[in-house]
Amino acid sequence: MLSFEELEKGFTEEEAIAEADRCLNCKNPLCTSGCPIENRIRDFIQAIRARDYDKAIEYINERSNLAVICARVCPHTDQCEGACILSRKGRGIRISKLERFLADKEMERLLIKSKGKVAVIGSGPAGLTVAAILAKEGYRATVFEARSVPGGVLRHGIPEYRLPNEMVNKQIDIVKNLGVRIETGVVVGESITMDQLFEMGYQAAFIGTGTGLARKLDAPGEDLPGCLQAIYFLETINLIVDGSLKKEDSPLEPGDRVLVLGAGNVAIDAARTSLRIGASEVRVLDIMDESHRRCSDKEYEEALHEGVRFHFQTSILEIIGPDRVRAAKVSGFAPAPDERGEVRLLPVAGTEERIQCDKIIVAIGQKPFARIVSTTTGIQTNEQGYVITHEAPYYGMTTREGVFAAGDVVHEPKTVILAMREGRRVAEAIDRYLQEKGLRSSI
Ligand code: FAD
Repeated sequence: MLSFEELEKGFTEEEAIAEADRCLNCKNPLCTSGCPIENRIRDFIQAIRARDYDKAIEYINERSNLAVICARVCPHTDQCEGACILSRKGRGIRISKLERFLADKEMERLLIKSKGKVAVIGSGPAGLTVAAILAKEGYRATVFEARSVPGGVLRHGIPEYRLPNEMVNKQIDIVKNLGVRIETGVVVGESITMDQLFEMGYQAAFIGTGTGLARKLDAPGEDLPGCLQAIYFLETINLIVDGSLKKEDSPLEPGDRVLVLGAGNVAIDAARTSLRIGASEVRVLDIMDESHRRCSDKEYEEALHEGVRFHFQTSILEIIGPDRVRAAKVSGFAPAPDERGEVRLLPVAGTEERIQCDKIIVAIGQKPFARIVSTTTGIQTNEQGYVITHEAPYYGMTTREGVFAAGDVVHEPKTVILAMREGRRVAEAIDRYLQEKGLRSSI
């Protein structure tokens, strides 16, 4: 019975050199003019004669990106081989087989270059850093991202006026050009589990899933329409700005009076974004005093300059409806001993007031989702849900062998540069882990 095995066998090195030796090295190579993409055929054949295969591949790559395929399916006898001067005298040069000899060799070299497969979960700065470094080191890194567009907080949190989406997209394109694959719309822990990733042949995994779960205020009235979480609010506005959502989807309307709770960078982004949507007034309330606010000086000053009003040592006691947010009962706060004698920030009697408002945006912190750790075994978290990692034997390895983590998912939300710094250290550790594991298994 006829088989599907590839019919023609490739040249051995000896055969290839013998065939290349027959080339007349024509001054005006008819083989090149017979090739629709004008491959530098004479030159690569001469390079084979000289056993300079790197040079030969270079000549091929100058004109072709699919040499493995062309060598097999091009109608050579009607093109380069048919045009070869020797074919008029009987036996033309087997250009297709010489091209195949080189192309197959190069393909093997490029594929062997892959040191292994690593799954990177999350496409924020931590995940992108790990994937880019591993790709440069010769690994096949695939990023699995829950959202439909990669970038993490860079894309969905930080507003357009500080970091344009176009710049984030271009930066991600550079990472992709290193050979990193990004698969969006994959929620690890829901669409696929960590265990399934290992079954698919990934030899290590990196968790860089950040802190996507907003902390609640725990004040009466928090569930009223008009009380928003800052990270969801910012993501919605980012999606409106990039055209993925309509303007009517905005949770905030021009003319709204807005209270933002918290004075970290997320709160400032929410306050300044509200002004850009047309809020008639924006006040930021923070339980800390001005000197202990968590936002940067630059963000604070720019917010003041744009008209945001700050109320320090102040917080919300109750959100007042009844049908939607209409006002907030607020109070001054100061350090004082509680009933057990511990000094805490407590409401100051007699400072209560009611502030009329239409929207309240809560920006008092985030924590990690438990989707991954709850659907697999062996990955421990601390009491607040942050993934526990170790410094040794491999920096950033979790309590499960082969699974690493870095970025906000292992500590309180911090900064882009810290996620990148940790990402680099962990990528180096993954490289060492996989190399040592390879050595152990080959002993
Ligand atoms: P993230 O950026 O949060 O990325 C995590 C990614 O993982 C997300 O894309 C998420 O969709 C994905 N993911 C989550 N779960 C899963 C899952 N189960 N499967 C697949 N994918 C998943 N820092 C600065 O240095 N400068 C700033 O100006 C600044 N501004 C900020 C403004 C805002 C509004 C916010 C929220 C943060 C800001 N930060 C800033 C902090 C900084 O952005 C974070 O510290 C940093 O993005 C953390 O990076 P990461 O990669 O750990 O996580």
